[in-house]
Amino acid sequence: MSKRDYYEVLGVNRGASEAELKKAYRKLALQYHPDRNKDDPKAEEKFKEINEAYEVLSDPQKRAAYDQFGHAAFDQTAGAPGGGFGGFSGFGDPFDIFESFFGSAFGGGFGGGRRRSGPQAGADLRLDLEITLEEAFAGVEKEVDIPRAEECPECHGSGAAPGTQRIRCSACQGTGQIKTIQNTVLGRFQSVRTCSQCGGEGTVVEKPCPECRGQGKVRRVRKIKVRIPAGIDNDARLRLSGEGEAGDRGGPPGDLYVFIYVKPHRLFKRQRDDLSSEISINMVQAALGTSIEVPTLDGTAVLKIPEGTQSGSIFRLRGKGMPRLRGNGRGDLHVQVVVKTPTRLTSEQKELLRQLGKTMGMESTENSTAVFSEGTREKERDKDKGFFEKVRDAFIG
Ligand SMILES: [Zn+2]
Ligand SMILES: [Zn+2]
Repeated sequence: MSKRDYYEVLGVNRGASEAELKKAYRKLALQYHPDRNKDDPKAEEKFKEINEAYEVLSDPQKRAAYDQFGHAAFDQTAGAPGGGFGGFSGFGDPFDIFESFFGSAFGGGFGGGRRRSGPQAGADLRLDLEITLEEAFAGVEKEVDIPRAEECPECHGSGAAPGTQRIRCSACQGTGQIKTIQNTVLGRFQSVRTCSQCGGEGTVVEKPCPECRGQGKVRRVRKIKVRIPAGIDNDARLRLSGEGEAGDRGGPPGDLYVFIYVKPHRLFKRQRDDLSSEISINMVQAALGTSIEVPTLDGTAVLKIPEGTQSGSIFRLRGKGMPRLRGNGRGDLHVQVVVKTPTRLTSEQKELLRQLGKTMGMESTENSTAVFSEGTREKERDKDKGFFEKVRDAFIG
């Protein structure tokens, strides 16, 4: 689903002032608050969208980033290679934004605090993992260290010391909410806010667990095995369900996302399932044809170079590329042949080349304007069999 433009969400134009944004937000947030729209399941989504748009546009820094990059400015999936660890920097809780805007006198009227009392899922974690092309080729299992919050093994997340229990919060009588009546010039408001004593849970620990100091969670560095399938490509994202941070109040843990970066290879360039490489041959091999061994990611393969091969020619070795991540078989290896002109010749080699030049219609090497006469070449070919043999021996030896 593509995201709607934040200005469009709030129904303001791009140059809207702070006051205009506030006005638009106030109207829409009250209109779509889930507590006022219990029969409309879409209201909550809409309410979140409005709050997210306001969160961004009301912050000059975030607004500037949004104006420049659009939603990409807050894209949680885009990441730079080589990074380390970081939680997803998501958006704030829409109800918190609502409350901070309207204050507890108004916001509290909408059942504030209810969301804090229930189970809450743990945060997702992200790990950037660099692998080699060989590892991407064969598939690999890596063990990684993940620092994360886990449920406290002493108290199993309750926060209460072993042998003790959570007791009813005396400040809110177990409701998790504090209600007050305020008389203002606008009238009488009942304000409801989250109990600060128990954080909205309705219970507090009598004696905090010594292991987690009543938090119910402890930080641990956990070794986790990440199975990387053969054929994985750069920028792939693996999700390890439930390996993120522990949840709150019995909520499920978050997920661990592993972002894969494949290091560039010395010999091979990759394009999807195909690989390409370069191989040098000398001019004799190019002219006479030969068979050479070329490296692949799993050993070597024989490449036949036909007679008369030009520098820059590309040959395809079927099935010598990367394994296909989805489906069977492998891609191809494209080998580009580069013909190298020799630079250090022995006097014997030079002499042979001069003789070669003569057979190709060149009077001397000093005056080497290439003149090719098909007739001459045909005639000379048979006679010079022995000569070409000599050239090959001199160069390939
Ligand atoms: Zn504990
Ligand atoms: Zn309380």
